[in-house]
Amino acid sequence: MSHLKGKTALVTGSTSGIGLAMAIGLAKQGANIMVNGFGEKEAAIAAIKACGVEVEYHGADMSKPAEIEDLIKQTEKRFGSLDILVNNAGIQHTANIEDFPVDNWESIIAINLSSAFYTSHHALPGMKKRNWGRIINIASVHGLVGSVQKSAYVAAKHGIVGLTKVTALENAKTGITCNAICPGWVLTPLVQKQVDARAEREGISNEEAKKALVSEKQPSGEFVAPEQLAALAIFLCSPDASEVRGAAWNMDGGWTAQ
Ligand code: NAD
Repeated sequence: MSHLKGKTALVTGSTSGIGLAMAIGLAKQGANIMVNGFGEKEAAIAAIKACGVEVEYHGADMSKPAEIEDLIKQTEKRFGSLDILVNNAGIQHTANIEDFPVDNWESIIAINLSSAFYTSHHALPGMKKRNWGRIINIASVHGLVGSVQKSAYVAAKHGIVGLTKVTALENAKTGITCNAICPGWVLTPLVQKQVDARAEREGISNEEAKKALVSEKQPSGEFVAPEQLAALAIFLCSPDASEVRGAAWNMDGGWTAQ
């Protein structure tokens, strides 16, 4: 399968977790990949290169608009186009609102929400010129429902669902689509931190903390796999998905059906 051969995908925050799975999934379909993120970049690059595509890395900090502009420019320069933009980079912090450190609020809004505006702002002119593009915003079930102690994250994720709708509408008569993917619990480094905190707080094992965390919200009792989310992103890039526009598509073990 290589229906994305000749296309270029930028996945922000693709050095680990969901972003890395997205990058590998898109590379397996033939897309060249611009990798970004602060994790183990050499391992990520090697895993994507093994799919037989061209890979480049840019270390833009997604909280810095000037670095984001350079990321888009360098992607277009290196590969000739930016066709698929996956806005994935994200961070988390949990605390009640009255205790929430203001710096954490600012950085979550910048990385989880504003960065998707800046990437889209700079990527859309090229996509419009070619009349083809896919923008996939990795939101969350927290773009659809709330949870305690996640004010900044829930606000940013609801924001990105709104941004997705406007991006889709403004480009509805073009070959550019924009959709959000809303995962439930996925066992990545971002969630492992919450598992560790719970194990310590409740004096339980890592396995017990994982089970407690996932069962509390997801009726299936199972984590969503990053590869399952990548398969959805690949579908959204396919011709069959050309009329999926402005969706907020949950994959959450039944979390938001309740
Ligand atoms: P992760 O921690 O494994 O990956 C986050 C990625 O973002 C890493 O590559 C990291 O280096 C990068 N990153 C963080 N700050 C950055 C910055 N300032 N500039 C550039 N890159 C930066 O986490 P993940 O769980 O794979 O999360 C990926 C996305 O999925 C996030 O937007 C997250 O909110 C979302 N999500 C995760 C879950 C889950 O259960 N894990 C559920 C729903 C949504």
